[in-house]
Amino acid sequence: MRMTGRSGRIIAITGPMFSGKTSRLIEFLEREELAGRSVVLFKPEIDNRYGEDSVSTHKGMKLPARRVNISMEGIKQIEDSGKGFEAIGIDEAEFWSDGAALAEVLDRLADSGKTVYVSLLNRSHRGEPFGNASEILARTDTVHSLTAICVRCGGEATFTQRVRNGKEVFGELIQIGGKDSYEPRCRNCFVRPE
Ligand SMILES: [Zn+2]
Repeated sequence: MRMTGRSGRIIAITGPMFSGKTSRLIEFLEREELAGRSVVLFKPEIDNRYGEDSVSTHKGMKLPARRVNISMEGIKQIEDSGKGFEAIGIDEAEFWSDGAALAEVLDRLADSGKTVYVSLLNRSHRGEPFGNASEILARTDTVHSLTAICVRCGGEATFTQRVRNGKEVFGELIQIGGKDSYEPRCRNCFVRPE
């Protein structure tokens, strides 16, 4: 009889903006921490926030968080330092530049027995899949698909609309530090690019 050890896995938390993905990610990590497992959270280094950080959970715990840059260097850092923990969280995975490379790192970590939680936007403000989402979601063992509330009709929002002065706008996939704002919208209220 073959003895099976604790097997690794990839759990994705996805949905539009304002669907509570980061909160759910932290709840999952908190659950791991309560079981006495070692936990780390990686966040993308954006808008000049970088380095060591921590995240307070609802139960008053502090989880260590590390900001790593969104290039290959950061992806490598996730792999290298992730190896030292049993449970690994990655927040806002859509930000990393190379979705395929990140997805392969998640696979390797899970193959080596780690539990990997990854939160990510599945669709852009254009209503199209993020490259990272396609790469990562295809490799996950479990997907938690969250929804927000549509600001227009109160329905179930699965899209994220970019707006400026109340009008739908499109353009660059990711705008950091831009003046844009975003609204969760349902399929019916979402406006696609021309
Ligand atoms: Zn709606």
